[in-house]
Amino acid sequence: MIQQNEKALIGIIGGSGLYDPGIFSEAKELKVYTPYGEPSDLITIGKIGSKTVAFLPRHGRRHRIPPHKINYRANIWAFKELGVKWVISVSAVGSLRMDYKPGDFVIPDQFIDMTKKRDYTFFDGPVVAHISMADPFCNHLRKLAIETANELNIVVHNTGTYICIEGPRFSTRAESRVWREVYKADIIGMTLVPEVNLACEAQMCYATIAMVTDYDVFAEVPVTAEEVERVMSKNVEKAKKLLYALIQKLPEKPEEGLCSCCNSLKTALV
Ligand SMILES: [Zn+2]
Repeated sequence: MIQQNEKALIGIIGGSGLYDPGIFSEAKELKVYTPYGEPSDLITIGKIGSKTVAFLPRHGRRHRIPPHKINYRANIWAFKELGVKWVISVSAVGSLRMDYKPGDFVIPDQFIDMTKKRDYTFFDGPVVAHISMADPFCNHLRKLAIETANELNIVVHNTGTYICIEGPRFSTRAESRVWREVYKADIIGMTLVPEVNLACEAQMCYATIAMVTDYDVFAEVPVTAEEVERVMSKNVEKAKKLLYALIQKLPEKPEEGLCSCCNSLKTALV
């Protein structure tokens, strides 16, 4: 239920470091109630350039919710209630390969789910749905994000497999080697699942801008907290520019034929 009659077609879910996009020209904050409880925080809704955009910090402001405690269902449901069709998710990730360097951006095209105990679906019965996850991200949104990053001279990798771990702890060296050498994952984080599949169940177009913060532990590259902090704040500045330009390119609604995200439930319901 929404207090005011606010609507936005574009929604941003901000990750670590991005608690406020800082690019709204006018904005108000909304408290949204959902059948699944409260979203991570108030939702900011306002203008970014010519577009109306909703913004939600995934961990809440001041980073108070750890990855395994995020109410992913409430977050996606709240966006759906606001009329969001395009979900741009931003997240900080570790790299599992030397050529995906700290400071680079990745637009993943696949994921591997290693989480353990989250609420993964809106369909807990009696309605049952088995959603296809063969291509979990919106191809059109991915394409636009890559194109925009290139225009802004941001180093971006066009593909990547994101392995999502339960957290909140980081991987052991043995795990990190398995993710890299056996599972062939490229980047690692703790928040993509179930956000991505819930967005898909909600028939939204979803893509992630993954910002590499550091190498995962396999690399045995010693990093200091200061270094990580420095890379992260640079990443956030780049992400804001990318978001601004990308948002201006989004059509008013997902156009027929560009992607099939809006039809995700057609063949999924039992
Ligand atoms: Zn789509």
